[in-house]
Amino acid sequence: PNYASVNNLSNMLNVKIEKLIRDLTSLGFANVTHNYILSREYIELILQEYNYKIDGENTGTTFENVYEELKSPVNPKNLARRPPIVTIMGHVDHGKTTILDYLRKSSIVSEEHGGITQHIGAFQINTPLSGRKITFLDTPGHAAFLKMRERGATITDIVVLVISVEDSIMPQTLEAIKHVRNSGNELIVAITKIDKFSNKKERERAIDKVTNDLMNNGVPIEKMGGDVQVIPISARTGENMDLLEESIILLSDIMDLKGEQGSNTNSEGWILESEVKKSMGNVSTILMTRGILTKGKVLICGNTYCKVRSIMDETGRQINQAAPSQAVEITGWKDLPHAGDEVIQVSNESMAKKFVAKRQSLLQSAREAANVEKLNQQRFLEA
Ligand code: GDP
Ligand code: MG
Repeated sequence: PNYASVNNLSNMLNVKIEKLIRDLTSLGFANVTHNYILSREYIELILQEYNYKIDGENTGTTFENVYEELKSPVNPKNLARRPPIVTIMGHVDHGKTTILDYLRKSSIVSEEHGGITQHIGAFQINTPLSGRKITFLDTPGHAAFLKMRERGATITDIVVLVISVEDSIMPQTLEAIKHVRNSGNELIVAITKIDKFSNKKERERAIDKVTNDLMNNGVPIEKMGGDVQVIPISARTGENMDLLEESIILLSDIMDLKGEQGSNTNSEGWILESEVKKSMGNVSTILMTRGILTKGKVLICGNTYCKVRSIMDETGRQINQAAPSQAVEITGWKDLPHAGDEVIQVSNESMAKKFVAKRQSLLQSAREAANVEKLNQQRFLEA
């Protein structure tokens, strides 16, 4: 078509109208509404910039990631077990932060280095019993994660739903249950604050109440023949925290989580945080999803790129490489990348420069088109 409204385009592309409006606004359009009229030139730019593809057969349309063309196919030979990536959810004050703090402090990884962890958006622990690794995301409400989810990236493997044994299920608990259902994440329930009951019978009764409430809300818990493990814990005394960690490992083994870890595999990941630090320059936290990241590799992200100068773990220690499911800080970015953006390795710096230049000129012409569009729209409405 020569003209289409945002409404039409959203149907044509099978992209949510809210998302389309956000994308248009970020390209420089003002006051975009459902009825906003777009001309053909601009529609084409949108298709390119966001790599929306209209598929020839009548099977509807697909949204593809901008980097899709840069990704190499998965080589099954390079697949190896990777640690699970875990998010903690639950009603306010039910104990999410306390659990994360306990895990961070008790983690062998951080104890080895003085127990000082930096805030980088994620941290990895070694479990006390089996010595396996788990990655915890500590800011799941962070804008970066919303952006990733919107782009169809499911970073989290397992959600630990925290329920206070004193309060049982509350509104945000129900929201979290709904989220888990929609996202396809696996679920483990931690009934926490069990130290509040010193009387054993009272404690059992309170725990039973929570499990009954879970059943009544359709959560298929193990006790009733389902597959959701329920672990009573105290993050204050540490009681059963080891069981919680091992239940995560058990579930991750059933899920058979794998990542490509060949030395030649192109690295991929997502930016969790990004900032300018004194004496280090542009620093970002990257959550690795593919490949083994090493110094000297060249990464692109949005309109910038990075020749990896240094890699640091969550304790600030310099390390030589990072594997899938690991979150690390890296330096070497030309400009700061945006949190929530995808990162992908390219073969060399000149390729990175070319890619960045192409994106920048595309954005530039999109902005120019946006200006012309305002005039076109007026004429269209007047005609
Ligand atoms: P969040 O809002 O889910 O992050 O909850 P917090 O971790 O901030 O915990 C809320 C309050 O509950 C704080 O005062 C914690 O000290 C307390 N709390 C958390 N976990 C436990 C626990 O296992 N036992 C006891 N007794 N108190 C806890
Ligand atoms: Mg908190």
